[in-house]
Amino acid sequence: MNEPYLPISAIEHWAYCQRQCMLIHEERSWEDNLSTTMGALGHSTVDLGAVRSQPGRRLHHSVTVWSDHLGLIGICDAVEEDLSTGELSPVEHKLGSKVGHGAVLQVVAQAICLEEATGKPVNHGWVFSRASRRRSSVLANSPSLRQEVSEVVGAMRGQLHKGSLPPAVRDDRCNDCSLVELCLPEQTENNVAWHRRVESVFDA
Ligand code: SF4
Repeated sequence: MNEPYLPISAIEHWAYCQRQCMLIHEERSWEDNLSTTMGALGHSTVDLGAVRSQPGRRLHHSVTVWSDHLGLIGICDAVEEDLSTGELSPVEHKLGSKVGHGAVLQVVAQAICLEEATGKPVNHGWVFSRASRRRSSVLANSPSLRQEVSEVVGAMRGQLHKGSLPPAVRDDRCNDCSLVELCLPEQTENNVAWHRRVESVFDA
């Protein structure tokens, strides 16, 4: 893989909004809002690299994983080890109780990375909600989900090669987006001149 490795977290951003993904990962723009601040605080409890044993399983926190095949790298909030079978499964922590499709794809990407590292199948993963203290199962070996991860990675690379921002599409997602003040979707939606202006600012 001669391309730069992409962060696994970009997959979730892309699934949420392609423009948001490129603002964060291409333009290095970031604005915290309440959700992102709460998320960062929550992540600090799993960023310790601790190993915690529980009946029947061991949880390894903050595990770096990558895929040379896809050109992805990231950190699993936790990797669960089944002590009876030895099977590993990635666990992604999220603030809210709703499990978005992007979080599912993120877990599948982590599973692909873990498989590459260990040479053993990784069939399951989890999205853990801090709000509900519940976790949702992810079918990490689903061929369709794996295909989708591969397509998203290809699409992100294609957009990066274009070197431009996808246009804004003002909808409900913008209400929860921490970049709304930077993106200004009402002003930029379908506004080619404004896009050029933003890009020239970033290029300066
Ligand atoms: S404000 Fe809306 S269009 Fe702009 S990056 Fe956020 S979600 Fe995407």
